[in-house]
Amino acid sequence: MTRRKGLVIAMDGPAGVGKSTVGGLVAKSLGYKFINTGEMYRALTWKALERGLDLNDHDGVLGLAKSLSWEFKPVEEGGSTLKTHLDGDVITAQIREERVSVNSSLVAGNPGVRKFLSKLQRELGVEQAREAGGIVMEGRDITTNVFPDADVKIYLDASPEERADRRYRQLKAAGQEADRGAILAAILKRDLNDLKREINPLKQAPDAFVIDSTKLTLRQVADGILRRIRRGAKGEGRAR
Ligand code: C5P
Repeated sequence: MTRRKGLVIAMDGPAGVGKSTVGGLVAKSLGYKFINTGEMYRALTWKALERGLDLNDHDGVLGLAKSLSWEFKPVEEGGSTLKTHLDGDVITAQIREERVSVNSSLVAGNPGVRKFLSKLQRELGVEQAREAGGIVMEGRDITTNVFPDADVKIYLDASPEERADRRYRQLKAAGQEADRGAILAAILKRDLNDLKREINPLKQAPDAFVIDSTKLTLRQVADGILRRIRRGAKGEGRAR
């Protein structure tokens, strides 16, 4: 394997647990890059929906993925968060549409697509760790499939109720309508899809730090991870 300069920090966990916020904070503190791999599955789902593809047509969706040009770069010069660009465009608002959230698990269950995106994620991580300071990568299978040899592995968890409450508060703060019960139901459904997926389901790597953030702020979670990294810890056990 190529010799790495910076660290690869891999983070997994269920939907709505705050992986992006925590990952972004950790990356910024260390001068690393950060990427949310869920956005890759979402971007492909959006493109496939726009083109009117049948998402159950595995070959068709994989063919689309292979026909696109994928780039991962910050939106603003020097930014630490890498965004998925497809054929030169970054699609940020559209990938959060409800139809994309609902359908992305179909695309994420496509074995060819998973293999294709896992390879891109690996290449990106290795390149960033070699050429930039290092990378924080989050998703569902980063600690188990994409980077089973990551320098630091984190599994971030929180109860479904707490995750639903956080989302509810976010929407309310943004002045949007929100239904707590509906949010909780959607979270439970997404958990089920992620856990029962045949290929690369969400699971805790045996050597990951498991952090339950139910009673912590995301800043506290990020600080705990940074303390661990600075102490040179590799994983295995619960972060305190
Ligand atoms: O993280 P987010 O919920 O935005 O992810 C969008 C979709 O991509 C979800 O269906 C999720 O299960 C899937 N995903 C995945 N593997 C990853 C990251 C996300 O299957 N590494």
